[in-house]
Amino acid sequence: MNAKILLVDDSRFARLKIEEVLRRCGVCVDFVHAEDGAQGAARLAEDQFDLVLCDINMPEADGFEFLRRKSADSGLADVPVIMLTAEEEIEIKLQCLEAGASDYLLKPFHEQELVARARIHLQIKELRDSLHTKNQALERLVRVDALTAVANRLHLSECLRHEFSRGQRHDVPFSLAILDVDHFKAVNDRFGHLVGDQVLREIALRLTNAVRAHDVVARYGGEEFALLTPRTRTEESTLIVERCRRLVADTPFAGGDEPLQITVSAGLSSFPADGAKTEDELLRQADEALYEAKRAGRDRLVSWEEHSRA
Ligand code: GH3
Ligand code: MG
Ligand code: MG
Repeated sequence: MNAKILLVDDSRFARLKIEEVLRRCGVCVDFVHAEDGAQGAARLAEDQFDLVLCDINMPEADGFEFLRRKSADSGLADVPVIMLTAEEEIEIKLQCLEAGASDYLLKPFHEQELVARARIHLQIKELRDSLHTKNQALERLVRVDALTAVANRLHLSECLRHEFSRGQRHDVPFSLAILDVDHFKAVNDRFGHLVGDQVLREIALRLTNAVRAHDVVARYGGEEFALLTPRTRTEESTLIVERCRRLVADTPFAGGDEPLQITVSAGLSSFPADGAKTEDELLRQADEALYEAKRAGRDRLVSWEEHSRA
């Protein structure tokens, strides 16, 4: 087991003893020592620990002070603490557990019991860590489109909600464009669905490479993409979406027997300039502008501003 353990005890002898026992039984490699509760809490915040063994009676900041400081930082909640106590009294043991300790050991401790308890808490910590990693991966996955690996509609909605409320509260502009592949049904019909899929992936890649890190490229629907550009007004977002449009139109796509000429049409709406009062209204404006781009001949961008002026 490859763990990092924090030993908090005012007695150097006690710390070295625990270290020696655990090392001898192959439990641990890395130990950090602290002399009281305050120092222990400081060390704990500086590094990633898998387990803490903490004495209760220490001058200055005692074991309860350590637990109090640890529980003040929610990021440290998963680190288990075994309290070492010379007190037989049930009251003290209960106080430890109520204050956030995972377990306690009576001093002088039995070596095998120390090793067994340390092992159990290290195993639980390991399981929690792997669960946490898997949860994070799952959280990322539910926001990613499986075909193109850009954000999906769920993620787009959340980002849009965030931008909208920030925009309303702090008067920060942003823009939303919807880009729809032109005559995509014909691509599928002529070259097959797999080539169509490959084209969608390549479009997603080109869009992603064309925008800034904090812009959001999302797959909005089948052959529709959305581009959310925070802190941009109509003029700047027009430049960005135009760049995206050209990146699709100017370089043919591989996939069929011959290079494929693909184009996209786009509709753009900006907040607050275009006056949308809700996220849905903003989406509807971008969608209507897109419809106008299709009607006007495709391979072009129409903003709600132009559309509503016409
Ligand atoms: P327009 O220029 O008016 O947008 O024409 P279009 O043919 O692109 O529009 P239409 O809505 O008629 O067709 C969209 C096509 O996109 C039909 C559908 O099969 C295809 N499509 C949607 N999702 C996928 C996908 O994940 N993979 C592939 N290969 N095709 C898809
Ligand atoms: Mg479409
Ligand atoms: Mg289309």
